[in-house]
Amino acid sequence: MSDCIFCQIAAKTIPAKMLYEDNNLFVIKDIKPVAPVHVLIIPKQHLSWIDIEKKLPDLPNQVMAVANKLVSQLEIAQSGFRIINNYGPDSGQEIDHIHWHLLGGKRLGPIG
Ligand code: AMP
Ligand code: ZN
Repeated sequence: MSDCIFCQIAAKTIPAKMLYEDNNLFVIKDIKPVAPVHVLIIPKQHLSWIDIEKKLPDLPNQVMAVANKLVSQLEIAQSGFRIINNYGPDSGQEIDHIHWHLLGGKRLGPIG
């Protein structure tokens, strides 16, 4: 989608430092971090949460595999981390292109 910021980053029309990239996913630092480690795991394909099962059923596994690599690379494997996916108004979702937040590097507050 041409007006989607994550599609533009995936297509490299907007430059961004990729912490990780493969054929399906890329990882960037969140522009407004809420923790010392705050990165976004993003599929290259523009997708909404409700389309995963139909269009990319293996995506959750791919995301977990990348997260597993990242937590070592970012040195939060032992201290701990949180992985969040926001969907819809009650979650505060800002960008309608599915992505997962990986947070760590400090004691995180309660969820909710
Ligand atoms: P969500 O509220 O789950 O949709 O999260 C969207 C996240 O994307 C927010 O935490 C933003 O700070 C982040 N964000 C927005 N634009 C950019 C960008 N250009 N580069 C990196 N992160 C971004
Ligand atoms: Zn998109």
